[in-house]
Amino acid sequence: MSDLIASRLRDVPDFPRTGVVFKDITPLLGDGDAFGEVVRALAARHTQGESRVDVVAGVEARGFIIGAALAHELGVGFVPVRKAGKLPGETVQSTYDLEYGSATIEVHVDAVTPGQRVLLVDDVLATGGTAIAAWDLLTRCGADVVELTTIVELAFLDGRAAMGERAVHALHVVG
Ligand code: IMP
Repeated sequence: MSDLIASRLRDVPDFPRTGVVFKDITPLLGDGDAFGEVVRALAARHTQGESRVDVVAGVEARGFIIGAALAHELGVGFVPVRKAGKLPGETVQSTYDLEYGSATIEVHVDAVTPGQRVLLVDDVLATGGTAIAAWDLLTRCGADVVELTTIVELAFLDGRAAMGERAVHALHVVG
């Protein structure tokens, strides 16, 4: 699986800014067989007994693509974690630091019910800032977040350490 993902990632130098090598997952998404294999591999961890989840939450925007497919594969619902100002209902927000500046994400207050087991998904774990903010937001809504699951982990950015006690799973680890 790791080799398959590596073969479908594209390195884009100096995006979104000079010095960053962006891992582009669009070649993977564009390959139906590979995309299907990745979604099934992510789902396989959560189909049995205590590892089952009630809902999948995905972070805008690429987390929506993976998350919706994963929710469908698992036969559960999907909760969008959105950038501020996009959700129409009452929301709870979290603001977190980026390398330059900050970002705010939010979910509907009633997106999860207390005690629901939530699988959080994003395409890439980098520094962990986004995942921690999303995880803690869902927890504030009463969710029991069981794991952050990702396709790619950029290990050199130490996101897993930043996540602390929060469980992390990645199909492909870079660096
Ligand atoms: P973090 O908050 O630093 O962990 O960054 C993770 C967020 O930024 C995720 O929502 C990713 O979609 C996005 N991201 C950061 N680096 C990359 C990359 O190299 N490729 C794709 N997405 C990335």
